[in-house]
Amino acid sequence: MVLHDIMKYIESEYGIINSTPCEICGGSYIAENLEVHVVDDIPYDVCICVCSECGHEKAFSFCAPFINDELFKTAKKTMH
Ligand SMILES: [Zn+2]
Repeated sequence: MVLHDIMKYIESEYGIINSTPCEICGGSYIAENLEVHVVDDIPYDVCICVCSECGHEKAFSFCAPFINDELFKTAKKTMH
């Protein structure tokens, strides 16, 4: 998988986050941090989000078996 594909993948995750209303107040989540967690040898792309209305925090995790840490860091840098 190349960088371009990973960026597309992250973008689609943001799409899911943006279309998920806050479970407390129905406001919209803002992605605050993106991390890679490894569970049972499978990398998960974990996005920490905060509600823009009430500040409620929620972690979205996406199974990302193809993610290579180095590539992921580069993708993050490119997006910021
Ligand atoms: Zn909220």
